Amino acid sequence: MRFGTPYDEVYAENAFVPEKESRLSVLANAVSYGTGTFEGIRACWNPDHQELYLLQARAHYERMARSARILGLEPPHGPDQLVHLTAELLRRNGVRADAYVRPLLLQAGEQLAVRMHDCGTRLYLAATPMPDDYIDRRGVRCTVSAWRRTADAAVPNRAKVIGSYAGPALAKTEALRNGFDEAIMLTGDGYVAEATTSNVLIRTGERWATPAATDDILAGITRSQVMRLLREHTGAVVEERRVHRSELYSCDEALLCGTAVLVTPVVEVDGRPVGDGHPGETTLAVQRLLQAISRREEADHPEWTTPVYGAARC
Ligand code: PMP
Repeated sequence: MRFGTPYDEVYAENAFVPEKESRLSVLANAVSYGTGTFEGIRACWNPDHQELYLLQARAHYERMARSARILGLEPPHGPDQLVHLTAELLRRNGVRADAYVRPLLLQAGEQLAVRMHDCGTRLYLAATPMPDDYIDRRGVRCTVSAWRRTADAAVPNRAKVIGSYAGPALAKTEALRNGFDEAIMLTGDGYVAEATTSNVLIRTGERWATPAATDDILAGITRSQVMRLLREHTGAVVEERRVHRSELYSCDEALLCGTAVLVTPVVEVDGRPVGDGHPGETTLAVQRLLQAISRREEADHPEWTTPVYGAARC
């Protein structure tokens, strides 16, 4: 699972420029201190429509605006203008395949000062090709990480802060080195929080549960979509609540969800099979449904997608 070589043109500091001309100084405040916030947005190509669709672009930029508010940063544009710039970026690069867009709001000034104010906030947008194998149908084997999520009182989890990804990066490496595919992190007081870059949902009997937004997670946009689809298509009860570690070991079905992985079945946690050890049927059904919605192959929820080339025929 690797992103491809980035597309040539990026948006950097108010202009579209070749990627090679968009370098940040090594002295940029964000480089030393992780000061800034980012998003990741999926663009999904539909060959029949000859159209590229942005998935939940406005919701991502609304979250970025909230992140900026928490950090006290001033984004140069509102969500609608950012959706427009993102579509323009993809058109300029002639993207006609699945892609991943990385918007960054960075403290790009060269003040070597640990602070959030007056550090030259700049907006950057870049895109890379998105490989197919990010959507996993066979399922992943997870471990509960020794690394915990930081508390919201230490680093605001809602703000998708660049520097806060050191913890998930350590957890991911630890999991891979120990022979697992992914790590599930707990809160400081030992409740289930989330995986390194995705949220967790579990089903026990008829009921689904996912850690609440107050359990030190990033409340994912895909998590909201999955909860909605579960309720609408299966009539299931989906609770947002504290989840015990032992529920991970005893549930009948589990999934991870996020922009990059979309929906991924979890087949094992710390050596215990989830359900019968195969991807859950509901998980695979929601995965298919969300994939179809993201390309407008499915009439459901057209409001979740934005056509880039403007030729939507659904
Ligand atoms: N948690 C973390 C820590 C993440 O980085 C991500 C990816 N943005 C998610 C959850 C999933 O969020 P979303 O569905 O909005 O991509």
